[in-house]
Amino acid sequence: MIPLSVPNLSGNEWKYIKECLDTNWVSAVGSYVDDFEKKFATFTQSRYAVSVVNGTAALHISLVLAGVERGDLVIVPNITFVASCNAISYVGAEPLLIDIDPLTWQMDLSLLESFLKEKTVQKNGQLYHKESQRRIKAIMPVHVLGNMCDMDQVMKLASDYLLEVVEDSTEALGSYYKNKHAGTFGKLGCFSFNGNKIITTGGGGMIVTDDEKLGKKAKHITTQAKAKSDEYFHDEIGYNYRLVNILAAMGVAQLEQLSGFLERKKQVTDFYNNQLKKIKGIQFQQVNPNVQPNNWLYTVMIPGQKKLIAYLNQSTIQVRPFWVPMNQLPMFKKNIYITTHDRSDEIYHTSVSLPCSTSILDQELEQVVSKIIEFDHVNG
Ligand SMILES: *Cc1c(COP(=O)(O)O)cnc(C)c1O
Repeated sequence: MIPLSVPNLSGNEWKYIKECLDTNWVSAVGSYVDDFEKKFATFTQSRYAVSVVNGTAALHISLVLAGVERGDLVIVPNITFVASCNAISYVGAEPLLIDIDPLTWQMDLSLLESFLKEKTVQKNGQLYHKESQRRIKAIMPVHVLGNMCDMDQVMKLASDYLLEVVEDSTEALGSYYKNKHAGTFGKLGCFSFNGNKIITTGGGGMIVTDDEKLGKKAKHITTQAKAKSDEYFHDEIGYNYRLVNILAAMGVAQLEQLSGFLERKKQVTDFYNNQLKKIKGIQFQQVNPNVQPNNWLYTVMIPGQKKLIAYLNQSTIQVRPFWVPMNQLPMFKKNIYITTHDRSDEIYHTSVSLPCSTSILDQELEQVVSKIIEFDHVNG
């Protein structure tokens, strides 16, 4: 079988994890936690990086720190992994869903701008949705598939409309907009090290910020808000969201290999783009010229999607469709959804993610392509 996207553990993972076991530093404190955070901050050029148990927890805490409260609305693209919207729900707020741009598959910023212009009002330094009277506190751009939207425009809208920016950059480690790393534009940025992400700790996440107060607070509330080192005195309700030393050790080993992973992902994307362009009706994800993407998960829009997925899976090539749009999930179907053409639905019914592990062999890539061309001949 050619898997969709599997971890690549060919570096110092064993060595560093073994060291944790040998020295008994397996749990919540240990030198690898500090090391991973420092190296991650350096890589993304953020002042603070705080490791957490997964990307969803990173989003949850970041929303808390951005001041999102019960009853608020948070702007988020309708095409994202459910964790973005779940995290918004954890703080008692609700996702305000924006359709995606048909070319980049990121949040449609012109749609967002006209919504903000026509449907919102500013009162006492806060933004309100006219119709529901609810406060809109923040915007959460999601860097879908490691691509990014026009971050200058996001930041301009955020400043014009008094919105906090929390970036869901969980898929975008190694992606840049105008040479600035994803996750470092907003107040806080969130990353994930789940098994299918570009680097993995099995499960894990990171919060980055340039704000000293927020960085310290993030560490504090993700570690049970313990306020004194010599006593169990906790000064607020905290969370047990820390990443353990064993997993941080794995993270350090993965980070060492990131530049190689990025290179391989780019080769895979270039290969597929070149080989598949002869397929009639195929549409590739367009990248904003200011963006250098990490090419995390290769995805195309292709005619006959359902049949193609069945055909490839049967040929032991593991592929999968894109996420079901948020407005089509039972928990969010009553939420505000801003759209003109429901591009989210279109992409859901036409997209396929193809095998793109960093360890994939060239001959496997050729095999995937020839199966797709074979399918195209039979069905095209
Ligand atoms: C992976 C992912 C998350 C959540 O990360 P976990 O580490 O799995 O909790 C959130 N948002 C998006 C867009 C993701 O792809």
